[in-house]
This record gives sequence, C-alpha cells and structure tokens, in this order.
Amino acid sequence: MPDDNLKIVEVLSSAKSIAVVGASDDWRRPSFYVMKYLQKQGYRIVPINPRLEGKSILGETVYKNIGEVPCPIDIVDVFRPPKECPEIAENAVAIGVSCLWMQIGINSEEAASIAEAAGLIVIMNRCPKIEHSRLSGLLGNGGFVSGLLSARRQTVPNPPRPLRNGGYIESNNPETLAVHAGTRPDGATGARITPLYQTASFTFDDADHAASLYDLQEPGNVYGRLSNPTTAALEQKIASLDGGLGACCVASGHAAQLVALYPLMAPGRKIVASKQLYGGSITQFTQAFKNFGWEAELVDIHDLDAVKKAILKPEVAVLFSESLSNPDGSITDIEALSKLAKSSQIPLFIDNTMATSVMCKPGIFGADVVLYSTTKFMSGHGNALGGAVVDMGSFDWMNARHSSLLSDANPAYHGIRFAETFGKLSYITFCHASVLRDLGPTMAPMNAFLTLTGIETLPLRMRQHNENAEKVAHFLRDHPAVINVSWAGFSDSPHYDRAKKYLAFGAGSVFTFELKDGYHAGQKLVENCNLLSHLANIGDTRSLIIHPASTIHRQLTDTQREQAGIGAGTIRVSIGIENPNDIIADLEGALEVVNGNKL
Ligand code: PLP
Repeated sequence: MPDDNLKIVEVLSSAKSIAVVGASDDWRRPSFYVMKYLQKQGYRIVPINPRLEGKSILGETVYKNIGEVPCPIDIVDVFRPPKECPEIAENAVAIGVSCLWMQIGINSEEAASIAEAAGLIVIMNRCPKIEHSRLSGLLGNGGFVSGLLSARRQTVPNPPRPLRNGGYIESNNPETLAVHAGTRPDGATGARITPLYQTASFTFDDADHAASLYDLQEPGNVYGRLSNPTTAALEQKIASLDGGLGACCVASGHAAQLVALYPLMAPGRKIVASKQLYGGSITQFTQAFKNFGWEAELVDIHDLDAVKKAILKPEVAVLFSESLSNPDGSITDIEALSKLAKSSQIPLFIDNTMATSVMCKPGIFGADVVLYSTTKFMSGHGNALGGAVVDMGSFDWMNARHSSLLSDANPAYHGIRFAETFGKLSYITFCHASVLRDLGPTMAPMNAFLTLTGIETLPLRMRQHNENAEKVAHFLRDHPAVINVSWAGFSDSPHYDRAKKYLAFGAGSVFTFELKDGYHAGQKLVENCNLLSHLANIGDTRSLIIHPASTIHRQLTDTQREQAGIGAGTIRVSIGIENPNDIIADLEGALEVVNGNKL
C-alpha cells in the first residue's frame, strides 16, 4: 500500500481548485471521469486543452494553458505524456500551485525535480479520483483499502475541529486491522458497529447522479447485486489484512473462484491448477467450468517442472493453488510458482482459506490474486457462507498473456476499457460492476455483517486453533490405533520447511490421520465423538470431524480417492478453540470404542 496516504489526504483536503491538463470533452475518457467526480466532491475544476480553448466542459471554460487561468489553482493534474511534463511543471511553479499531480502511467522525474525544487508537493502515477474515493473511507467506495484507520466518524464535508493526524492512525498489525480496517463509525449516525444495510437498492439524488453511477463515473451503491455498504466494509477489512488493494466479497468460496476467474477466461482457455486442491474445487474446475468451454489441467503442484511444462501451453491464462491444502495440509511453494507465472505473463491465484492472512500472506511471495472461502476461519463461527477475491495490485491487467475482459473495450459500458479507466483498481471494479452484476453470486448483507463480527477475533482464534492442533496432532501420532498424521508441523513432515517459510506460526488446524483398521473403524470413530461435531465444514470455533471415504469422497472410485490422498480409514479433523484437553479426551474415548475396549 502507498506509504504516503496522509500526504495525499493533506493535499486533497486543503485544495479547492484543480486544473486538469489534457482535459477531454468526451465523457467516456478517463479525464472526463476524473473531472466529473472531483467537481461533485466540491472542487472547482479548470479544464486545460489548447484544442478546446474557449469551449466549456462540465460548465467550466477551457483554457489553452495554465498560465492563462484567471483564478487561483491549488493542484495541477496532468493527463499528458511524460515528455510534456517538465514544461507543465515550470508553468505550475510560475503560477504558484501547491501540488503537481501526474496521472496513472505518467512518471517524469525531471518534472518532479522542477516542482519539488520550488516547494511543490509532487504525486506521480496516481489518480486523484481513485485516491479521493479510496481515502474518504466512504462505504460506497467498492471495497478498496484506504490504509487509514479511525475511531472517529466520517463527517462530511469536513470535521468540526482540526484533528491530530487528520483523525487517522496507520497500522499493519493484524490484531488492529481485524478490528478497525474498513469499519470506522457510521458517518450518518455514529453507530460504532458497521450497520447491517439490509436493503436491496439505493436511492439516487437526481437524474445526473443516477447517470454518473451507471457510467461508473462516481463510486456509490446502485443495487444490491453489485455492492452493499456492509459488504464493502468487510471487503476493506479482508483486503487490508492481506495488504491488498481491494476485495470483492461474494456468496461462497466457490463463487469467489468463479468471479475471480471470469475476467480472464474464455472458451478454449485453460487454468493450470494443483491436484491437491479441495475436492469441491477440483469438481468445479474440471466438470462445471467445462460447460463454459474453460479447460483445467491438474498438476502435482510440488513438481515445479510439471507446473512449468503445463503453463508454457499458450492457452493457459491462470495458475491456481491453495497456500495450505485442504485436507492434506501440504504447503505450496508460492514464491517459486510466482516466478513461473510471471515468466508466462499469467497471474498466480492462491486460495488462502485454510491459512488465512493471519498465518500466510501470499502477496508477499508474489501471488497476484488471493481467494477465500470466508465460510471457514474468516467468519469463524460456522454461521455465514461467503467468499472473497483480493487483488494484490501486482499484476498488470493491461499486459497479460491474453487480452481479457479488463483490457478489451466493454460494450456493456459504452466501450470503456476497465484497465485503462480504472488502472490498478480495474480488476476489483470489474468484479463488482460486471461479474456480480451479470452473474449475480453476491454475498448476502447479513452474511457480511456476521463475518465482520467473526473476523475481529481472527488473529486470536488462529493462534488458539494452531496451539490446540499441535497438541491433538501429537496425541494422535502417539496413539496405537493411528498409522499416520498429515500435520505439517512434525519436523519429519515433507512440508515442514515450507511451513516454516510460508506460515507466520503453526502448521494449520485442519489435517488428516489414518486409522489402522480402515473404513468401518473410521465410521465408528466419528459416531463415537461427543464433543467433535460430525459434519462437512472446517474452520469453525468448534472442533469438527468427518470420515471422507463415507461422505465427501464417497462418489469417487477407490483409485480416485487414493490419488486424492484419502484412504479407507482416513479421518479429517478441524481442530477448534475449546480446551485442548477436552478435544483429546473426546478423541481418546472414541478411539477406545474403535479398539473394542468399551461399548
Ligand atoms: N476453498 C477451500 C480450500 C475450501 O475448503 C472450500 C470449502 O470447503 C472452498 C474453497 C469452497 O468454499 P465454500 O464452501 O464457501 O463455497
């Protein structure tokens, strides 16, 4: 995230007028979007374009150059190529502006030196519309991270009295982010908890406001299928925890996979994915997506030569893996995969459901998009389905191996190119404005509300889950009825070194163990647990247990099941946050029944 958030807040909150050099009168061009948005936020905009001199844009006279503008200017915002920037900088200095701002994709060190030498603040390769909407912390901002936290409510237009540090604090600590990111007190009421906006739709101020929202010229809520303020708060929190740019929350983890892949995929294109993915994801990729004409090739993700060979095929558009695999607990070498993906100009997608951002930050190791089933640890209490797609901001959507729905002109939005108009924010904007709008797998606001509450304790819970898992894994390994335990925290585990590299602590609390006596012993064990719940979920506060061969893997042949690493007597556990002695006592009692010592 930018480390100059407070500098940008200062520039934008003290400015009154902004000259836009390279202003277009075509309402589909990015400069028009920027001017319209800034005008709506109360800035006076002054369009500069010699070709349109004397004409009017958005009710403001167009000037040939900034030297001719008769009113004071605070910011000069530049939409011209870098070679023209030094001269613009000199003119900006001459008329005494306080900030030289160069748009996304425009970098001129020479212009920056000229402006800085004269005491101007310089901002390069950014857009004031994006920064304003991101930093204003408004819940209609589409789930983008502001990087700023505040326990003060948003007062519009300005706070009643000057606030220390603008009223903000900055933090990268997960404990603080889990509680505060995206969830400052409600602007309208001061409510400390983000309200549940249980509404299907949102009113427009007037016809122009409606048109601006439909044209994506200003951020805001239109209809609940695209966005919702409660969900936007959760999106900001999840993206902040990952150090990402923004997120899009959806109905489930499976929906997250669909939404994340959709912008890049087309009939005939291929996903290269790990063979070790969660079984439901394998079915989705290899069977359901086949009906869209999307192909999937499954590879052993720990065999880097096999991965390299697979992604060299030109039809491949995405590389996909889980950081920590469900259910075998194996750990992906994200850094190595990222290098391979980059060399083929394809993004690396990492499903981080099992580890969560508290244990693993895939973006640090080069993942471009991070996905979650928030149904699991994120919401954490087994009461809300959900999914999330986080853009880490590392992938250049305009220059992918294949053109995509981000780089192509979009007929449903008057021919704009999302990657050009929204820059780094294009992927998440597209997920909301197009994928959710057109496919509809939106997160229910109630589930966003429950997940917002659950996620506040994520860092605490993950530590307890992992401490308990370590004790239970050791107990099971020492038990005579158990042949092996897949937990990656054992120093002789093949995944031990990767666990140390990729996980901040622990080795995960979902793992499998194999019973000596096979299928019926497995069924008997789950039937005799009184504390562990027998069900098909993971990541709940409660400890959970399942016998895959008779349940989640029962549709597979014996060979397919063995390939997925599930034997007849394999048991999967998701260790909860109860007292570990009680979890162990329950498993011990059930194992005694399996051994025929009781009942
Ligand atoms: N990814 C992983 C690693 C999972 O374990 C699951 C579900 O178990 C999913 C994705 C799918 O999530 P959901 O059930 O929320 O659709």
